[in-house]
Amino acid sequence: MPVIDLEFDLNETERAVRDTAHRFATEVMRPVGDKLDKMSAEDVIAKDSLLWDAHKQYNDLGLREVDPDLSPIEQARISCLISEEMGWGDSGLAISFGAGAMAGGMAANSGNAELAARFPQGTNGCWAITEPNHGSDMIDFGDAIMAPGATRSRADCIARADGNEYVISGQKAAWVSNGTIAEQAALYCAMETADGKKGGGVILVNLKSKGVSRGKALEKIGQRALNQGEIFFDEVRVPADNVLYGPDLYQFAIDQTLTGANTGMALTFTGLARAAFEEALDYAKTRVQGGVPIIQHQSVKARIFQMYRKVEAARCLARKVAMSNAAGNGNLGPAIAAKVTATQTAFEVASDALQIFGGNGISREYPIEKMLRDARISMIEDGCNDVLGLVCADKLVEE
Ligand SMILES: Cc1cc2nc3c(=O)[nH]c(=O)nc-3n(C[C@H](O)[C@H](O)[C@H](O)COP(=O)(O)OP(=O)(O)OC[C@H]3O[C@@H](n4cnc5c(N)ncnc54)[C@H](O)[C@@H]3O)c2cc1C
Repeated sequence: MPVIDLEFDLNETERAVRDTAHRFATEVMRPVGDKLDKMSAEDVIAKDSLLWDAHKQYNDLGLREVDPDLSPIEQARISCLISEEMGWGDSGLAISFGAGAMAGGMAANSGNAELAARFPQGTNGCWAITEPNHGSDMIDFGDAIMAPGATRSRADCIARADGNEYVISGQKAAWVSNGTIAEQAALYCAMETADGKKGGGVILVNLKSKGVSRGKALEKIGQRALNQGEIFFDEVRVPADNVLYGPDLYQFAIDQTLTGANTGMALTFTGLARAAFEEALDYAKTRVQGGVPIIQHQSVKARIFQMYRKVEAARCLARKVAMSNAAGNGNLGPAIAAKVTATQTAFEVASDALQIFGGNGISREYPIEKMLRDARISMIEDGCNDVLGLVCADKLVEE
């Protein structure tokens, strides 16, 4: 933030990582994200697309793996800075990088070296949970959002035990981030185990397996650098060792995953909010109307202040939740509060920025209209904000 620097307590390493991430966000993510935004969804994932070089440069920079010798809190402090810069650069690319790391990250954390070798980090992955007939209800364990007397419809995707393997049949929805390009998936779906248990489960799937096919890349209004699409499973066989969580631990797994994902969303969209604020501030200082730069008009000044305080507030909550998670105090309620706050802030600040840009705000020659589109869909991503709010409220009532 150029105004008043609240980053007074960053150490030398943290400043260096932040500066590296910011340079990458400025020199690679912004220009690439802008170009991908103007291309068709199919061209975004074409062989000669700029997308692949952006992914490669991100991997080469080593931003994916924070020094494992640091304490969890130290690692989290650095991750906060990186996530915010990635969101500042291009939120679609940021989410593509983040979702891409999920399957490999879960394999690495499983404690199973053989699984980690088969699902390496750095290989592009995805989180496949949403189904055509199951969106919001996939995260509603306490039936917080079920209408009275309603029952859940059948799963669209199921993994059934068969000897030492699971056989997966069905499909995931068109909203899966990296859905048409991922090579490995963390698949969250209905499961029937060998000992007759039924429920949900988490299973790692190599998406090059026989029986896997993909839908078309989704055309959408924002985060267009983030490819999304359906994944189909036609009797896909995977080793039983690939199961990370069975029905007994499924709710725990979803809670953990959403806690991490919602915290990541909060940090990333704080970055987008900050980007929109900075653009608006710069523009207001140079655009002259009524004989003076528009920043000198009181209503513009007042708007700038509201944007500034919202960005700092979103950032504070996002980082506080990230630190709490790193301290072993991870909890879905606060993560939801941070995600809803940051994405709502990103949308409001981008909308205010568009107002400050006036007619130029709606032009594709300026970055603001894209930021507004990118921010809007973050309020649906990783759970609709209104449904997440109900899930959080349910937890507050339980306490
Ligand atoms: C950019 C983006 C990235 C995404 N990435 C992934 C991904 O990587 N993997 C993945 O699996 N999915 C992903 N999703 C899917 C996302 O998680 C779902 O879109 C979201 O959970 C909502 O599901 P839905 O779209 O089916 O909406 P629905 O559940 O059909 O909801 C539609 C509307 O109805 C409201 N609503 C629904 N049920 C209730 C209720 N009981 N009470 C009150 N209101 C209700 C919702 O709030 C919403 O406004 C992504 C989505 C987006 C936009």
